[in-house]
This record gives sequence, C-alpha cells and structure tokens, in this order.
Amino acid sequence: MIPYDKREGKIWYNNELVDWQEVKLHALSHGLHYASFVFEGLRVYDGEIFKLEEHTDRFYHSAKRMDIKIPYSKDEINKATKKIVSVQNVQNGYIRPFAWRGSEMMAVSAQQTKIHVAIATWEWGSYFDPKLKTEGIKLNISKWRRPSPDTIPWDTKASGLYMICTLSKHEAERDGYTDSLMLDHEGNVAEATGANIFFKDKNGELHTPIPDSFLDGITRRTVIEIAKSKNIKINERKISLDELSNFAGCFLTGTAAEVTPVSKIIEHNYKVCNLILDLSTSYDKLVRKKKAA
Ligand code: PMP
Repeated sequence: MIPYDKREGKIWYNNELVDWQEVKLHALSHGLHYASFVFEGLRVYDGEIFKLEEHTDRFYHSAKRMDIKIPYSKDEINKATKKIVSVQNVQNGYIRPFAWRGSEMMAVSAQQTKIHVAIATWEWGSYFDPKLKTEGIKLNISKWRRPSPDTIPWDTKASGLYMICTLSKHEAERDGYTDSLMLDHEGNVAEATGANIFFKDKNGELHTPIPDSFLDGITRRTVIEIAKSKNIKINERKISLDELSNFAGCFLTGTAAEVTPVSKIIEHNYKVCNLILDLSTSYDKLVRKKKAA
C-alpha cells in the first residue's frame, strides 16, 4: 500500500489546491500535541458524495464542541469537497475533511492558534476484507470503555476520542479478532471502534444502544430508516452485556463499515441471516440511488 504522504494529486488545504505531497504541518502543531483536531469521513459512490450536507453539519458540530471556529462557511466546505472529488476524479472512494489548531502557541491554552482546514480524498474499497461482508467479522470486548458524557465532547469526531479506539482495535487484531466491542461507562454495550452496533433478536426485531455517550452515526440513522420502511421493529435502548447470548444476529454500521455482519462476539455466535444481508443490499442500493435513478 502506498503510504498516505506519498500519494499523487491535490489536497484542498486552507482554500487552495496544494500538491498532495506538499501538504505539511509543522511538528509543533497544537492539533498534534493536544488533540485539538476534528475530522469527518464520507464516501463517494459512482462519483456522488453520500450525505455531504449531513457530514458537513457534523464537521461543524464537532468543531464547535471543540471550541474550534472553522474559518469557512458550510457552503464553502461543501463546494470545496465537491471540487476536490472532481479534481482527484474519485469514483468510489473516501473523503477526509479535517481541521486543527496550528503552531502559534504550544501549551494547553491555544486561543491565538490559526485554524487549518484540509480535505483529502482517494479511491477506496471495503473497510473490512470484502469476504467478511458475507461471512461476518469477529469482535472481542475491549477493556477500554467509552468515556462518560461529562468527561469529553462525546458526540463528535474529535481525534482524542480515537485514542482508545486504536488501542482496542490493536488488541483485538493481536488476538485474532477483526474489531472490538466497546462498552459505555456504565458497562452497557456501546459501539465498535469506528462503527455502531445492532442486534437481531429471535423474533426478527432489531435492538441498538441509545447513542447517549457515543456517536449517533449517519449510517446508523440511515439503516434505522431502511429497517422502518421494511416494517422491522427497532428498539433503541440500553443493552447489557448479559443479553449478548440472547440475540440471533448482529451487525455494524458506519460510513467505512457500511453494513457489516458480525458472526461472533467472544463466545457468542451469530448467524449472518437474510434480514441482515437484505439490509446490507438495501443500503448498497440506496447509496448508489442517484446513479440508478
Ligand atoms: N462510531 C465511531 C467511533 C465512528 O468513528 C464512526 C464512523 N464515523 C461511527 C460510529 C459511525 O458513524 P457514521 O455512520 O456517521 O460514519
């Protein structure tokens, strides 16, 4: 794989199209040292950006919660996102907008730092091995819990939140799992390291945790809408760890993960059933709807 700093093309950087390999930040950037950094993750399907406005709204929400004022309007960011996708000629890929504090100050207080904004995009396929999209992935349970909502701006894509996600995912991979299920601060089921989680019960109803200390994913909300349109009952509620053995099926949702079945969480096995495969197919159809219409 080509390292991300060695790729070709342009990155939208502070309102200019800059050569990919020339986009550099100084090692003494506040964003790097103190995690004053927010980002988004979007997908492009058949040349169309999926849910651009929702992602841009969340980008601004994350920035505001982190006391970062993005020096562009949402409209400018939407236009810049479309522009970079077109300049890079991405057909099926990923977009990463990000904003961070610069190097004018190097201490906890960062009031006078410049806010930098960049948008990069590249062709990209499946997040998990495509074969696992039908076989299902295996999760362990992380020893790290999602922080309680009064400890961090939890409903954002701020980089600091991902510190424990990387630790959890590394441990899972070392132990032969694909990803990790994280619990919330009370020990209830929360989410995976970069995706929301759903369960199917023996009656064909879906259950998913209330996102009250972690991200309410855009894919999560989309899949809930799809399920409702199919008259599948959705139960948004607290889910305790003891319940894992009662469920028949499980899947993850996320921009990167899309709809990915889970076949195992430690000793609990789940069937990759038709209901989950059907939701996955419906999601795939929806994201490419514009092209098909
Ligand atoms: N939780 C976390 C921690 C994530 O990083 C993501 C990916 N953005 C999600 C959930 C799913 O969010 P979305 O469906 O908006 O991509």
